[in-house]
Amino acid sequence: MEMMAKPKRIIDNKLIKNIKDIGYCEFCGWTNGLQTHHIKTKGSGGGDTDDNLICLCWKCHRLVHDGKIDKGSLKDIVRVRNEHRDITISAIR
Ligand SMILES: [Zn+2]
Ligand SMILES: [Zn+2]
Repeated sequence: MEMMAKPKRIIDNKLIKNIKDIGYCEFCGWTNGLQTHHIKTKGSGGGDTDDNLICLCWKCHRLVHDGKIDKGSLKDIVRVRNEHRDITISAIR
């Protein structure tokens, strides 16, 4: 659990804002306590790119860091979201 303690290390704040602009948890759809998660950590070569970032509520974020949500399913969610990005973003605004 201590792994999720430092969300402030993110460099590209504009991208982070865009990811949070999604406005709901991309895993469960919840709209409270949204956080941005790096699917692939920076330590293993992941960057601040939209295919490496996912908008999660704090509950799902914790589950991810506890290893209870599979990374592969996060990647699938992000891939589908990026394919339909315009639709998704305009639908919630
Ligand atoms: Zn969630
Ligand atoms: Zn995270």
